[in-house]
Amino acid sequence: MSDIIADGKVVQINYTLTNDAGETLDSSEGRGPLAYLHGSGNIVPGLEAGLAGAKAGDKLTVDVAPDQGYGAHTGEEPQAVRRSEFPKDMELHEGMPIRAEDGQGNTVVLWVVKAEGAWVHVDINHPLAGQTLHFAVEVVDMRDATDVEVQHGHVHGPGGHHH
Ligand code: ZN
Repeated sequence: MSDIIADGKVVQINYTLTNDAGETLDSSEGRGPLAYLHGSGNIVPGLEAGLAGAKAGDKLTVDVAPDQGYGAHTGEEPQAVRRSEFPKDMELHEGMPIRAEDGQGNTVVLWVVKAEGAWVHVDINHPLAGQTLHFAVEVVDMRDATDVEVQHGHVHGPGGHHH
């Protein structure tokens, strides 16, 4: 097993993500390993860079500054948008990304902060913007990506996309 993590590898990791206060923000525990395609931006840039060169069985911690994670916080406050601006059958829940158009017709991603009653509160900042991310990672396994996975830019099968 001389494989190391590099572009074009499908990598399976167990991970726990904590913030500066040591609170767990996300974890693969109970879900099973996350499979991602290395070099395709499936995970935040700082984590991807920190994992390069690791081998199956390695356990490592990777600290990721906001600019290599979910970006700096813009300082903008969440905005309230009328629920009626969204499609009726669209499910809206906290932490969900939605695509919208700004005044210039550019596509922007907004994050749902709160959806209740006639108003939906959306934020231009990712919920983890401005936070330093601390990942504890165990590299479970890896394999070469298939040509189709490389074309699609993501993993197919267990821990990845099914389509
Ligand atoms: Zn695909």
